[in-house]
Amino acid sequence: MNWMLMTGLLVVALGAFGWSMFRRLVPLLAMQPDRRWDRLGRRTANVVVTALFQKRFVQRWEFVHGLAHILIFWGFLAVSLNTVHLVGRGFVEGWALPGLHGTWLGLAYAAIKDLFVALVMLGTLIALFRRVVFRPERLTLSWEANLILLWIFSMMLLDVVYGGALFVMQPDHPEVKASFMGVLGRDLLLALGLGAGDTATRVLKDVGMWGHVILVLGFLNYLPYGKHFHVVTSLFNVFFGDLKHRGELAKQDLEKEDAIYGVSQLEDFPWKRALDMYTCTECGRCQANCPAHLTTKPLSPKRLIMDERNHLKAKTALMMRVARLRRQGAKDKAQEASAGWEGKPLVGGVIEDEVLWSCTSCGHCVENCPVCIEHIDHIVDQRRYLVQVESRFPKELTTVFKGWENMSNPWGLASNSRGDWMAELGVKTPSEQPEFEYLFYVGCAGSFDDRNKKITRAVVKLLQKAGVSFVCLGNDETCCGETARRIGNEYLAQTMMAANVELWNSLGVKKILTACPHCFNTTKNEYAQFGGRFEVVHHTELLLRLVAEGKLRPEVGFARPGPLVYHDSCYLGRYNKLYDVPREVARALPGVTLVEAERRRQLGFCCGAGGGRMWMEEAPQQRVNLKRAEQLLETGAKTFATACPYCLIMLDDAIKQKGMEEDVKVLDLAELLERSLKKDGADAPPPAPPAAGA
Ligand code: SF4
Ligand code: SF4
Repeated sequence: MNWMLMTGLLVVALGAFGWSMFRRLVPLLAMQPDRRWDRLGRRTANVVVTALFQKRFVQRWEFVHGLAHILIFWGFLAVSLNTVHLVGRGFVEGWALPGLHGTWLGLAYAAIKDLFVALVMLGTLIALFRRVVFRPERLTLSWEANLILLWIFSMMLLDVVYGGALFVMQPDHPEVKASFMGVLGRDLLLALGLGAGDTATRVLKDVGMWGHVILVLGFLNYLPYGKHFHVVTSLFNVFFGDLKHRGELAKQDLEKEDAIYGVSQLEDFPWKRALDMYTCTECGRCQANCPAHLTTKPLSPKRLIMDERNHLKAKTALMMRVARLRRQGAKDKAQEASAGWEGKPLVGGVIEDEVLWSCTSCGHCVENCPVCIEHIDHIVDQRRYLVQVESRFPKELTTVFKGWENMSNPWGLASNSRGDWMAELGVKTPSEQPEFEYLFYVGCAGSFDDRNKKITRAVVKLLQKAGVSFVCLGNDETCCGETARRIGNEYLAQTMMAANVELWNSLGVKKILTACPHCFNTTKNEYAQFGGRFEVVHHTELLLRLVAEGKLRPEVGFARPGPLVYHDSCYLGRYNKLYDVPREVARALPGVTLVEAERRRQLGFCCGAGGGRMWMEEAPQQRVNLKRAEQLLETGAKTFATACPYCLIMLDDAIKQKGMEEDVKVLDLAELLERSLKKDGADAPPPAPPAAGA
C-alpha cells in the first residue's frame, strides 16, 4: 500500500516539476545564441568555488550572514540525502542507502545530518526574525520569503518528529548512538507519555516521514514559480557565467546580415540573460552599494532583474511559440509572433529609459551578486537599442556624440589643439622619435580639461625625471571609445577603437601608458577584439615601479594639513583589481597619513562619472559625487587622492559645491608624487629622449 502511495506521489510530483521546468526553459530557445560551453574546466572550478563553497558570501562585511547562508545550503544538501532514505522507506521499511545502514559511515552521516538539521532550524529562525524585526532595506520583504523559511523549518521539524517516533518504537535502532536530534525528539515524546506500542507514536512516525517527503516534493514544485528557483538555477548560472574579463563588454557583430543593434525585447537577449533573471535571489546585495539606487534614482539593479523576470514569466506562452517556430525553421513566422506581443514592451515599458540611463557602470552589482548575474550587460544591451535604433537618449548626449564624431572628444574641442599641452615640455611624437618604449596615451580628459592637463604634465615630468622612453601622439591622438561604448553607441565606439588599433599597430606600439582607468581598461581588455594586443600599464603602476627602482625619490615632506584618503576608481579597482598599487604610491610619499573610507576597495563607492554619467545631467539632490565626497570627508581627510581624471573632476566639483575648496584639495597621485621630488635641476631643460628600453 505504502509503495503505491509513494509511487503515485513521486510520479505526480516529479511529472509536475518536469512540466514546470519545461515551461521555464523552452523560452530560452526563443532567445539569441550564446556560446557558453567553452573552457569546461574553468567553468567547473567556478561552480565548486562560487556555488558549492559560496566564495562570494565570505566577505568581511557580511561574514556572519554569509556563514549562515553557507550552513543552510550545506545543511540542505545533507538533509536531502535523508529525504532519499525516507522516500525509500515508502517502499521498504527501514531502507537506507548502501553502506549507511548501521555502519560507522551511517552513524557519522546521522550525526552530521542532525547537526545540520539543528543549524538549519536555527538559521531559518534567525533569518525570519531578521526579516520580520530588522527588515533590512536591501531585501525584498515578501510573505513568500517568510513562507519558504517556515516551510524549510517544518521540513526539518518533521525529520526530528520522524526520528523521535522511530526511536521510541525501536529503542535499539543503531542510529540512536549518533542521531542526537532524533534522541531529543524521542525524549520529548517519552516525556509526553508516549510508548512504543501507542498508535499516536506510529501516527507521528508516519506524519514525520510522509510530511517531510510531501513538503520536499511540494517545495520542489514551488521552486520554478518563486524566487527560490535559484536553488535549481544558480549552479547553472555560475557554470555558464561570463568568462571574459570583467572590464570587457561584448563586441556586437554589426557586419552580420541579421545584426541586432541592441535589445528591445526579451527575444533579442542571449539566452544566458534569462538564466540570470530566474536566478535572482532578491537578496539586494547588488543595490546595497549601487550609486544610482543610493541617490534615489529610478535604477535598482535588483528591481531591474526582477522586472525582467516578471516580464519573462508573462511572456512565457508566446516565447514557447516563438521557440517552436524557430525550431521548425519558420524564422519569419517566429518574428511575426514576437511582434504580436500586446503587453508592455521591454525597453521603455517594463524597463523605463531613465532606469537604463541611471547606471554609472561602476560594477558593484556584478562584483557582489552571489549568483553571478551580469547586470551591466543587461543595461548596455538595452542602451545600445535606445541609441542605435531609437536615437532616444538624454538630450545632453547629442552634443557629446557630435563632439566625438567631429573632433574625437566628448567636449567637441578642436582636435588640432589636442596636443597643445606638449610643446612646453618637449614631448616627442613617434615621427620625431620612432624608437620608444611607451606610448603615453593621454586620453580626452588629460588632453583637453585644464585641471587634468596639470596631471598630464606631472606624469610627463616624472617620466622625464626617471628617464623613461616615451612618446605621445599629440594631435594624432583620438578618443579611445570607452565611454561611447558604455553609453550604447557601439558603432561609434567600434569605429574609434579600430582606428586606434590600426594606427598604433602601424607605429609599432608595444606598451601603452595611461593615467586614465577608463582608457586603461578599454585598451587593456577590449582592444584585443580589434586586433590590438598591447601591454597596458596605469601610471600608478609605472610610478610605483620607478620609485621602487630608485629612479624617482620622494623626499619632500607632504605639505598639506591633515590625513589623505585614497578614492578607489571603479575601473582601476573593481574592474582591474588595482587596489594596493595606488595606496602604495600614497604610502611612498613622505609624511603622508593615509586613512581609509568605510566604502573602499571592492565596496568602493563610485564618483558618479562612469557609464557616460559624466555627461548627463543630475538633479542636485541625486548627485553621486556629493555623496561620495561626504563619505570621504567622514574620514577627516583634507586631501582626496585620485588616480582617475573622471574621479578628480567629480570630486573637485563636489568640494566646490560644498564651498570647501579652501580646506580640501583633490589631487592625482602623480601630482602628489611630483611635488614630493626635490626640485634641484627643475629649471634645467628636459633630458634628451633616451633610447627604447631605457
Ligand atoms: S553598475 Fe553600479 S550603478 Fe550600474 S546598476 Fe550596477 S551598482 Fe548600480
Ligand atoms: S541580482 Fe544578485 S545581488 Fe541582486 S538581488 Fe539578485 S541575486 Fe541578489
